[in-house]
Amino acid sequence: MNIFVDMKSGFRKVLVLAILVVVICSCASDHNEPFLDSLSDDKKVRDLDLKIHAVVKSNNSLSIKEIGQVTYGDFSRPISVISYQNKETDCKTLINAAIHGDEPASALSVITLIEILLNHKLKCSFDIIPVINPWGFSQNIRFNKQGIDINRDFASFKSQESKIIKSYITGKQYNLMIDLHEDPDSKGFYIYQYGRPDTKIPEKVVNKIHKMGYPIEQDVNMVILKTENGIIDAPMWGLWYMRLTRQLSIANFYRLHNSKEVFTIETPTHLPLKDRILMQTAAVRVLIDEIYGLQLKESK
Ligand SMILES: [Zn+2]
Repeated sequence: MNIFVDMKSGFRKVLVLAILVVVICSCASDHNEPFLDSLSDDKKVRDLDLKIHAVVKSNNSLSIKEIGQVTYGDFSRPISVISYQNKETDCKTLINAAIHGDEPASALSVITLIEILLNHKLKCSFDIIPVINPWGFSQNIRFNKQGIDINRDFASFKSQESKIIKSYITGKQYNLMIDLHEDPDSKGFYIYQYGRPDTKIPEKVVNKIHKMGYPIEQDVNMVILKTENGIIDAPMWGLWYMRLTRQLSIANFYRLHNSKEVFTIETPTHLPLKDRILMQTAAVRVLIDEIYGLQLKESK
């Protein structure tokens, strides 16, 4: 009996077992029971809507469009997109927030993000989706009312919310797509990139946040990946794995269909809300400067 054959088959068994454990663990935490009707209250999402509509009204070049309606019994709220169209440039950005309802800094950053994008020297067109999960946002709950984690539903499309986003995004291409999140378990800021050749751009983002005096996450395990000094560098095979295991996130979906430049930003919820908004907006500013800086250089 060849000992190396034995070791090889043993290693293979351990690997298969490890993959199964990862898949089982991540599935178990991703799907809850539906929530009760008594939780229905949408004041918070209406307040944010009012602020956003006021900003859009105050600027002629902005528009807001409802791309679908999320309805659970008495609860009915649209998913909206704020857009700026500049026909003289061919660069286009998409930012989305609050796919998890208990990550408020992402949605509350939107007003400042509109200003940052409008004031950028390239005047790129943009689409911003402030709240993908209006029911979860109104309740401060990660999931939608059915108990589905919408951010694991971009292979199966069981939720109303993921279906609305899919029908809006299909066929669109962007130069940059940013998915805003928060993490209640992390100690510091971190950022994902997907299928990029090197980590220079997220390094610049992390350096900026570090210089602002905020902590950088060193230790988050995300299904099959791990943070390294605040960066999770997801390879393309990781996205195919997520699709195969029906765990595809919105950013994974964007990377496979809509853009080569996709990033996810995560801020730690133990810090005050105003600091998390500062981190989110600073990170977006660096990403815009870096991505469009590269494109400016390439076009010269
Ligand atoms: Zn999240």
